[in-house]
Amino acid sequence: MKHFNIAIDGPSGAGKSSLAKLIAARLGISYVDTGAIYRTVGYAVRSLGIDPDDRSAVSAILPSIEVDAKFEEGHQKMYLDGVFLGEKIRENEISSYASKVSSYPEVREFLLETQRKIARENSVVMDGRDIGTVILPDADVKIFLSADDVCRASRRTAELRARGEEADPERILEEIRERDRRDSSRAAAPLRPADDAILLDNTHLDLEMTLEAALGIIREKLPGIC
Ligand code: C5P
Repeated sequence: MKHFNIAIDGPSGAGKSSLAKLIAARLGISYVDTGAIYRTVGYAVRSLGIDPDDRSAVSAILPSIEVDAKFEEGHQKMYLDGVFLGEKIRENEISSYASKVSSYPEVREFLLETQRKIARENSVVMDGRDIGTVILPDADVKIFLSADDVCRASRRTAELRARGEEADPERILEEIRERDRRDSSRAAAPLRPADDAILLDNTHLDLEMTLEAALGIIREKLPGIC
């Protein structure tokens, strides 16, 4: 099969990772979660007791940390300095650290080649914020997945509760709005659809319907692939 890449961008809680995993399974390619890569830097910053709002302190640690994404049996596993982090990067507090550190151009530059190398060496579905615009501007398919913020906050609340974490819906909505604001207004690679991205709003779609819509977009761009 020829090498190809699919980029899925969009705001927090739109369901990018759930969709991307299903697409990857359907097409027999790898799913790359770039949020997990930023979360690993956020985790390193918290572990070192660094204030995530202090850009120069965050930038200063980059040369001395090693962030690695390994693919084992099709699953992406994040390592920091050779240590597997597992679910630790999924804590709600790490979401905020990741969102803050990802606004620094030094951090984005630090992780750029890691992401491009994975996509060069594998056919991938890669999800994030700037995959179609910056990381893989030549991706074969670009989907911008969104849903309204209230809907995204209720999905995120359910996800946290399913993992046994405390989740106050009002606070989650506030946090989602804050992350949207930060992701969209930052100078470095702000969240926006690529000019050639197809917009998919799944506010009123369940996961199965979202998958069908996405596969329709993929078939148009890559006839015969699925
Ligand atoms: O997608 P997820 O919520 O795991 O991402 C964590 C944070 O990392 C996001 O809030 C976003 O600020 C940042 N991020 C980014 N660029 C990406 C992926 C994630 O800035 N490609």
